[in-house]
Amino acid sequence: MSRKIAILGATGSIGKSTLDLVECSPERFEVVALTAATNAEALADIARRTNAKLAVIADETRLSDLQELLVGSNCRAMAGEAALAEAAAGEAELVIAAIVGCAGLRPVMAAVEAGKTVALANKEALVTAGALMTDAATARGATLLPVDSEHNAIFQCLAGSRADDISKIILTASGGPFRTASAETLAAATPEQAVAHPNWSMGAKISVDSATLMNKGLELIEAHYLFGLPSARIDILIHPQSVIHSMVEFVDGSVLAQLGSPDMRIPIAYALAWPERMETPAQRLDLAAIARLDFEAPDMTRFPTLRLAREALEAGGAAPIVLNAANEVAVASFLAGAIRFTDIARAVEEALEDSRFAAPRSIAEVLDIDRATRQRVDSTMKANCH
Ligand code: NAD
Ligand code: MG
Repeated sequence: MSRKIAILGATGSIGKSTLDLVECSPERFEVVALTAATNAEALADIARRTNAKLAVIADETRLSDLQELLVGSNCRAMAGEAALAEAAAGEAELVIAAIVGCAGLRPVMAAVEAGKTVALANKEALVTAGALMTDAATARGATLLPVDSEHNAIFQCLAGSRADDISKIILTASGGPFRTASAETLAAATPEQAVAHPNWSMGAKISVDSATLMNKGLELIEAHYLFGLPSARIDILIHPQSVIHSMVEFVDGSVLAQLGSPDMRIPIAYALAWPERMETPAQRLDLAAIARLDFEAPDMTRFPTLRLAREALEAGGAAPIVLNAANEVAVASFLAGAIRFTDIARAVEEALEDSRFAAPRSIAEVLDIDRATRQRVDSTMKANCH
């Protein structure tokens, strides 16, 4: 029996890896809905290849192009925010949430509120609305399956254990392209250097986050909401080879780890086939060739984003929303060449310092805080540039 799936963010890096798995095991899946931001050509191409029923483009100005590209297919074209939510909450049993940034929040919540099984890659949605989302999942009987490799590893290590038996979670981090870089090199880092990750091939935003280590900071907050542990029981450990994807330490002193080659198709496949497993074309680990696994403590001075994310998690309320929004704006300006690499953490720190928001009670309030923070960070940056 095949499962009906929707892929939100089908044209991105996670979207492509998901489609790769779907095309390797076509008997397992029926693609019912696909979404993309602006690339109507790529979306229409995927819709034809997968025989999808619904294709949604976020950018409404691209709707007529999408309609034209889909003439003669069985696929319906739609556009805009309500249509994204429809793709998430419609016919699919399993929703792959692979939009980047807080832009994915409403569609993810639509899937959760419709009681779907959600394979969650879009960490920013959980960072900004963690409590609202996990509460809604419980209330609506939705299941959140982590796709992020670290959280997927932890989910695999936790299988069948009681909450009382867990002592801590150890999130591993490759350290990114600047793990050994000096403070001077960091200040002069270019977007090209920042997106050139040593182990993983990913979208531009998460690649910059991996270079600043904000990615690990966002993952710390993500782990807190997914697994219900406080900040003090979630450690971060640098492991440059990206072979161990994370670990769980239990009260008896046992530590379980999940290993695999750094290929997102492995954690995506786990979420797609859960509670079973499926074949993947991913390369098998050759530990004799890898020969050694290294570990080191993270450097909080060169990578202040780790401290900022932990502070935001411990402050709670709206702090993670401010952290995330300031980071999204700063990363976009860095990629556009408007600010330096080290200005990203500075912008986030400033935004957290002068933010005064109460904890959000609804997704609308989360999005208000997100919008207000973006405007504030944007105008501060423009003022600093002139
Ligand atoms: P990407 O930039 O390659 O793709 C993003 C997708 O989201 C695209 O399909 C794009 O069209 C869509 N999108 C972008 N902005 C949108 C908007 N405003 N409205 C609607 N759709 C929009 O990103 P990615 O690397 O695939 O990452 C996706 C998510 O998965 C991110 O949250 C990232 O942190 C997470 N993640 C990615 C990886 C990875 O290996 N790429 C690993 C772990 C987690
Ligand atoms: Mg990750």
